[in-house]
Amino acid sequence: MSLHFGNLLWPGTYAEPVHYPILDSHKKTRVVIIGGGMSGTLCGYTLAKSGIDTILIEQNTVGSGSTSANTGILQYSNDKMLSDFANSIGEQKAVMFYKACRQAAEHIHIIAEGMSRNVDFKRRSSLYYASTPTDVPTLRQEYEMLHRNGFDADWWEEDQIAMNFPFRKAAAIVTRGDGEINPFLFAQALTEEGHQSGLEVYEKTAMLSVRPSAGGYTVSTSGGEIATEHVIYAVGYVPEQTGRQWAAQINRSYSIVTEPMPSLSDWHERFLLWETSRPYLYLRTTTDNRIIVGGLDENIRQPVLSQQELHAHSLRLLSELHHLFPAITPEIRYEWCATFGESKDGLPWLGEDPIHPGIHYCLAYGGNGTIYSMLAAEIFRDHLLGKFNPIASIVRPDREIVH
Ligand SMILES: Cc1cc2nc3c(=O)[nH]c(=O)nc-3n(C[C@H](O)[C@H](O)[C@H](O)COP(=O)(O)OP(=O)(O)OC[C@H]3O[C@@H](n4cnc5c(N)ncnc54)[C@H](O)[C@@H]3O)c2cc1C
Repeated sequence: MSLHFGNLLWPGTYAEPVHYPILDSHKKTRVVIIGGGMSGTLCGYTLAKSGIDTILIEQNTVGSGSTSANTGILQYSNDKMLSDFANSIGEQKAVMFYKACRQAAEHIHIIAEGMSRNVDFKRRSSLYYASTPTDVPTLRQEYEMLHRNGFDADWWEEDQIAMNFPFRKAAAIVTRGDGEINPFLFAQALTEEGHQSGLEVYEKTAMLSVRPSAGGYTVSTSGGEIATEHVIYAVGYVPEQTGRQWAAQINRSYSIVTEPMPSLSDWHERFLLWETSRPYLYLRTTTDNRIIVGGLDENIRQPVLSQQELHAHSLRLLSELHHLFPAITPEIRYEWCATFGESKDGLPWLGEDPIHPGIHYCLAYGGNGTIYSMLAAEIFRDHLLGKFNPIASIVRPDREIVH
């Protein structure tokens, strides 16, 4: 089953990516990562930089799964607000988790800024606005919790929003410390730099089975077999590949990208825009002056399969954009529909299987999957280096799901 349908923006920005061989012999290593998307490549890069022997296998090509459909927003705030997490897991753990996400965002920024390849990374602030006036009290509560816990956030009233944007909303939170990136280029660059640090990468190499064997596991692939101590499943929105059941909600989401705009002068500091409604609308700009709009999530796993149905949704996204920015008349250049996964408690599943030591899951489900992938990479690295990671217990795969 395909993970996306339509005309994607990112793959065309790197027309001739580096390709890696097909595995055709038997190998031995300490870690095998299954999946070469954002999750697998961030893990591979991080482990290789820490000197841990790792092989990454990808059944297609690096970044060709959901990573190509990702809209590239790097936001530490989650789909689930800090105050909602405080209600479900307690304020202390919720704040710890949000702070870990903020730190993971900063770690991605540092990696992206230090890369030899340009990955279209920019530091940005976010405007999280009340979709309707009735959302203002909840939004205010969120702001107060962020502010009280030391997050760099401001409260904007209606007039301040209207002074900086061509639209009026009853209130908004402005957060700093976010960013935007080209996720396809980033996954490619992570793989290239990981490879230079010793990461072995095999494309067109599918995991067929994982079975226990002396000293760990044997991963059988469409090429050779790999003997390993640890396996990391970074298989994206096909959780069945792990051989386990997950309380995942697999949906589909829509995105459009405009032609480059002559001017974006009434878009204050190119803020990342999103809102309190669920599902939410979100917008960003690109370094070549395009606008990306995403949203309209539907509770259906399979992406649409007809251009007509896709375009009907694209026109709805365009009309939302026009509603916010009436003076601009953009044309749609790219449009797609993609599978998108969430967990029922808003947390990703990252960490070791409690029954099968050495088997690890990297299911970075949620709107800020890239941030969750960074958390995962650091949790796995710390585990393999024998270091304590304070977030590991919050996102562990066998946690009780509290809504
Ligand atoms: C429309 C959309 C917009 C999004 N926007 C954002 C955003 O703005 N910011 C953000 O942080 N996140 C965003 N996300 C989420 C983000 O895309 C995902 O978290 C991330 O791309 C998932 O990466 P992944 O590596 O887990 O999955 P994938 O990119 O799908 O990678 C998994 C890989 O595993 C491979 N694989 C699977 N099974 C096997 C096997 N048996 N053997 C070998 N390989 C296998 C697949 O081929 C695939 O390449 C968005 C997602 C979507 C769909």
